[in-house]
Amino acid sequence: MIQGVSAHHLPSKWEWTLTYVVDEKCIKCKTTDCVVVCPVNCFYEGENMLVIHPDECIDCGVCVPECPVDAIKPDTEPGLEKWLALNRKYAQKWPHITVKKDMPKDARDHWDEMGKFDKYFSPNPGQGD
Ligand code: SF4
Ligand code: SF4
Repeated sequence: MIQGVSAHHLPSKWEWTLTYVVDEKCIKCKTTDCVVVCPVNCFYEGENMLVIHPDECIDCGVCVPECPVDAIKPDTEPGLEKWLALNRKYAQKWPHITVKKDMPKDARDHWDEMGKFDKYFSPNPGQGD
């Protein structure tokens, strides 16, 4: 408890952006332009997507305009609970990525594809740095 502030007056989760999360639009992208602008290096690499560690992200939003498919969103947007849980789970399992890598040759072919999680998601780790 913060001295002089009751829990009643603290902002709730839905009034206060806590982190940004990566959703399924990221699958098969890996342009990794998002990674190099992050001031706190809080991206982690799976076999075919990235996630953000919710406890390390400082909510700055700098990575958002770097993403060509709008895969990075503030967790205050409705309907992102699944992706917040996935980001948290895999940020603890996958290796850290802080440098840009060559994007897959077919990345652009999948940018506008729907339903990528069911078709392609892999729980396997990426290479990391
Ligand atoms: S730019 Fe967007 S879609 Fe591409 S790797 Fe980064 S978060 Fe994923
Ligand atoms: S919002 Fe800021 S701190 Fe969070 S992942 Fe993006 S660049 Fe990093």
